[in-house]
Amino acid sequence: MIPQSPARESSTERADAESVVAAKGLVLGYGERIVLHGLDIEIPRGQFLVVVGPSGSGKSTFLLALNGSVPVRSGSLVVLGRNPSTLHGSSLERFRERIGFIFQSFHLVGRLPVLHNVASGMLSRIPIPQAILRMYTRDQYRKILEALRVVGLEDRVLDRCDRLSGGQKQRVAIARSIVQEPDLILADEPISALDPRSADRVMETLRRASTEFGITVVCNLHHLEAARKYADRIVGLNEGRVVFDGPPRELTPSAVKAIYKGDSDPEDAPDPLHGEETPSPPSAA
Ligand code: ADP
Ligand code: MG
Repeated sequence: MIPQSPARESSTERADAESVVAAKGLVLGYGERIVLHGLDIEIPRGQFLVVVGPSGSGKSTFLLALNGSVPVRSGSLVVLGRNPSTLHGSSLERFRERIGFIFQSFHLVGRLPVLHNVASGMLSRIPIPQAILRMYTRDQYRKILEALRVVGLEDRVLDRCDRLSGGQKQRVAIARSIVQEPDLILADEPISALDPRSADRVMETLRRASTEFGITVVCNLHHLEAARKYADRIVGLNEGRVVFDGPPRELTPSAVKAIYKGDSDPEDAPDPLHGEETPSPPSAA
């Protein structure tokens, strides 16, 4: 069943809610290389958290650790009540069913219609013969159409995904996550391949999915504009360390400098129009 829409609460009202993610002194790395140097973070249920930072600061590695794809080196990590590093086989599969993942490159099957791409989000709940025949029950159709309504694509159900724009594809991917009925959605730079208008629409959609279904979201973003506009809370990473953690209104010019310190790639520089010079717009309701 699609969860009921909870009323939107402020972050402070949620402070005593159960944490979806709790990391203490979390160290992550690859081989000899340490990528995250002792991260402490607690993410309460329903929060829309955006992680920003230059390329290579460890954003993707953090998301991958949350779904058990990168092992914990040291420190502790609890996600949805489990330590992802200890899960294997079917327990890891069941754990990942509770987590939606949104990729920069969408990961849809282009030759299939929107309907089947969205339905694949509930594949674990569709018996294999039925999945092969692509037959869904009335209840499954209802969930798929409801998810497509939330992402604003209810009139594209039968269109092939490769006929859609990038922004529409990403919204199909969000609908696929919604029917999965996850507790947590991880989105790794979901808008970096999109034009600004589509990017805005995708972020609004992700925000709506979080609000309507009470889903906790951790979203990595390259630039600050969307972070300021949509996040409840922003975590800024620089070289694998948290250099900022707070609501968008606290992201001051000096905090922005700390996040992008030593960043030599001009692509990563804060957008001059929306970075340091402009005051923070109010966070999205
Ligand atoms: P971001 O997402 O912020 O760009 P990443 O988490 O992808 O950062 O990468 C952090 C650091 O880890 C980078 O220096 C990157 O080169 C390195 N890294 C990422 N993935 C791997 C991997 N599979 N093997 C080895 N090093 C990696
Ligand atoms: Mg990345």
